Amino acid sequence: MTLRFASRNGRAHLVLGPDNRLVDLETASGGKFSSEPIDAFRRWKELREFAATLPADSGESCDVNGLDAPSPWPTQVFGIGLNYRSHAEESGLPIPGSPLTFTKYTSSVAHGNADIPLVGSSIDWEVELVVVIAEGGRDIAPENAWDHVAGMAVGQDISDRALQFASQPPQFSLGKSRKNYSPFGPWLIDAVDVPQRDALHMTCTLNGETVQDTSTDDLIFSVSDIISYLSGIVQLLPGDVIYTGTPGGVGVSRQPPVFLKPGDVLVSSIDGIGTTTNHCVAG
Ligand code: ZN
Repeated sequence: MTLRFASRNGRAHLVLGPDNRLVDLETASGGKFSSEPIDAFRRWKELREFAATLPADSGESCDVNGLDAPSPWPTQVFGIGLNYRSHAEESGLPIPGSPLTFTKYTSSVAHGNADIPLVGSSIDWEVELVVVIAEGGRDIAPENAWDHVAGMAVGQDISDRALQFASQPPQFSLGKSRKNYSPFGPWLIDAVDVPQRDALHMTCTLNGETVQDTSTDDLIFSVSDIISYLSGIVQLLPGDVIYTGTPGGVGVSRQPPVFLKPGDVLVSSIDGIGTTTNHCVAG
């Protein structure tokens, strides 16, 4: 059984069965695990063992739209820019020599299906593979990096392009941190159970039309590279979130540019990981 992890009302849950039933972790474990999602990330290997002992028919039915982001209050949220050749080329920018890293402030984190309030007229989509850190650490070698990942989800690095490029040199972080601009979910899939986790098919549709379509093996810096690079500089902490970069096909690079409008619907999907739907609303 693949471990799937969700948060609801700030409490850690496991997701079971094809009908996605929710089990409250603290209750089901008799207090062995606390209700805090961060406790689960810190003890992810133990959690994996515990999850395997749960009866397959336990849990209650789940309203996906009632979930939080799987890691609802991460200490750090990293974004990696220009990490697909197709996106660097459409942006007219050189391929970075090291992971181009910015932060998405924690208050922008939202559940996978959150509505996107549009502020201004240059709000853009970026579908991304999102990974959440289990046990963190410093100086993690690339060959050990996946051991530090709890799970994977699909997310959107929603970007206010005017704000992102408002200063020279540009400082990306605020433009990627408005309310609900970091939705991911609907839950985490335990990375250890994902076959070919470095080559996942990822798509984004806008109002039913495919706008982004890639394999994550086109990443310039892989998940392992990113974790190794970041942990050589900062300490990675349980529950930290990494947005690993978006492929070509964003709105700002189109001729003419296309930006999100109220009523637009974004559907983001990674095969074997999950699908999220975001409705755009007036800001
Ligand atoms: Zn991005």
